Parts: sequence; C-alpha cells; structure tokens
Amino acid sequence: MNVIANSYSIYSTLDHLRREGKKIGVVPTMGALHEGHLSLVRRAKSECDVAVATIFVNPSQFGPNEDFQRYPRTLEADLAMLHAAGCDFVFTPAVETIYPEGYSTYIEPPEVANRLEGAFRPGHFRGVATIVLKLFMLIPAQVAYFGRKDYQQVVVISTMVRDLAVPIRIEACETIRETDGLAMSSRNRYLSASDRKRALGLSRALQRAQKMVDAGCTNVSELESAMREVLVSAPVDSIDYAIVVDTETLQSIESIKHAAVALIAVHVGKTRLIDNQTLVRRA
Ligand code: AMP
Repeated sequence: MNVIANSYSIYSTLDHLRREGKKIGVVPTMGALHEGHLSLVRRAKSECDVAVATIFVNPSQFGPNEDFQRYPRTLEADLAMLHAAGCDFVFTPAVETIYPEGYSTYIEPPEVANRLEGAFRPGHFRGVATIVLKLFMLIPAQVAYFGRKDYQQVVVISTMVRDLAVPIRIEACETIRETDGLAMSSRNRYLSASDRKRALGLSRALQRAQKMVDAGCTNVSELESAMREVLVSAPVDSIDYAIVVDTETLQSIESIKHAAVALIAVHVGKTRLIDNQTLVRRA
C-alpha cells in the first residue's frame, strides 16, 4: 500500500495506471476509520483494479462552533486498517496542499443541500462539494464509493456530479451498524457509556418507523410522531429533525406511496449524531 501526501504524485501515479487500462475506485474519508469505511474500501477493491482511500479532515465543511479541532485523528491505526482491507493507495494531503495560501474557489452546492443538514449546518455542503470535487480532480477514478449513512451527502454529490457532468460514477453503499443497531461513526468515540446507550434511540426510532410501515401505516405525520416518541424516551438531549421525506428530492410528503426515507439528527451529550433508513412499503 502506497501512502501519498503530494497532489502531483497521487495524480500522476493514478493517471499512469488509468492509461494502462486500470479501473480505479476512490473512497473519500476523514479518517478515524471503522468497519463502515472499510466496507467501502472492500467494495472498491472487489469492483475495481485499484482501490484508493483519501484521509483528510476538511476544515471547510465544519462550522465555527463545530468539532474540527477535536475531530479524532488516528492516522497510524487508519493506515493499518486500510492495509488489512486491501487498499492500494492512500492520499493523505495536508490542509495547505488542498487549500494553499490564496485559495478562494468554492462550489455552490445544489438546491437539495439547503434543507436538513444544510439548514442546521450552514456552509457544510459547500465545503463537502468543494473537497469532493477537488479530490475527483486529483484522483482520476471511474467510481467513487460513499456511505448511505450520510444520505443527504450522497444526494448532494450525485446531483453535483450530474449537473457538472463530472466523469465519475457514484456508488451508494449500505450503512454498517454495531450489533445493537447503532450506526458506526467516527463521532461515536465521543460518547460516554451512558450516552452510548441513549444513542440507540436513533436506530430504534428508525426500526419503529419501518415496523409501522410493515404493519400498513403510510401516514408520514404518524411515523414522525412515533420516531420522536422513541427519541424523547431514549432520551436524546435534543432533536434537530426526525422526518420522513421523498427519497430523491428530500421534500416533505404526506404519505408513503412506494418508498420514502426517514432521516434523524439529534444531540446526545456533546455529540451530534445522524442516521437514516429507507422505508419500503412491501406489497
Ligand atoms: P467520513 O469519514 O465520516 O467523512 O465518512 C467517509 C465515508 O464513509 C462517507 O461516504 C460516509 O458516508 C461513509 N460512512 C461513514 N459511516 C459509515 C457507516 N456506518 N456505514 C457505511 N458507510 C459509512
């Protein structure tokens, strides 16, 4: 496994491989890796000739009062895990490599970025769209793998790629969970033992919604009330949103026709957690 921090080196090495006919898959991450990230790397490895992971804690996607400074940085352990997962290249740029002195170009993300996460984290998707597009410029991959765990992020990136005709395919991959249902996240390591128990409210609320749909409920306000009830009794400390919306536009709907997505963002202790589940009406 090659670890490369220099942007010219990563581009020229991968460009060379691509010209040789190799299929390249990229997995952008912020490090502090867990099984969720590794599942993306394994998928890239199984579908491509060359699997590339990137590790970069992107300052432009964090708000001024968010956790950029204290975001976990565990490079040595990350590299060992990537090596074991069969990753071929890791791009680990410094902040100055991505945003050199005088940097001032940012992507205006698509409309769908204004809702939900975009409303609670102003500027977040502008930072995400900017770093992702820059990584796509530096890493000439044919396929990029993202987790559905960040559902809105996948929608924003897929829309950007479509709108700007970026020549890359976006693959959305399943959320990997702990055995008790908690979605894996780098931020889970902020949770105390009691926070960790309360955090189970998210997956339980989503399971409750799917069970109600299985039992024939299609009424979105009933589903949302039920999710809130589970979250309040967990108890989480505050709810940013717990809603059921259209799977593509993320716009409000009144009832579920075929499928919808339930999206949750809450605070537990000092940690903000998100999770989601696609709700499918089975015949
Ligand atoms: P992050 O390091 O949080 O920026 O995440 C990097 C990539 O890993 C993103 O595409 C995430 O959606 C994905 N990811 C994070 N957690 C999980 C998970 N539990 N299961 C699957 N993918 C995940």
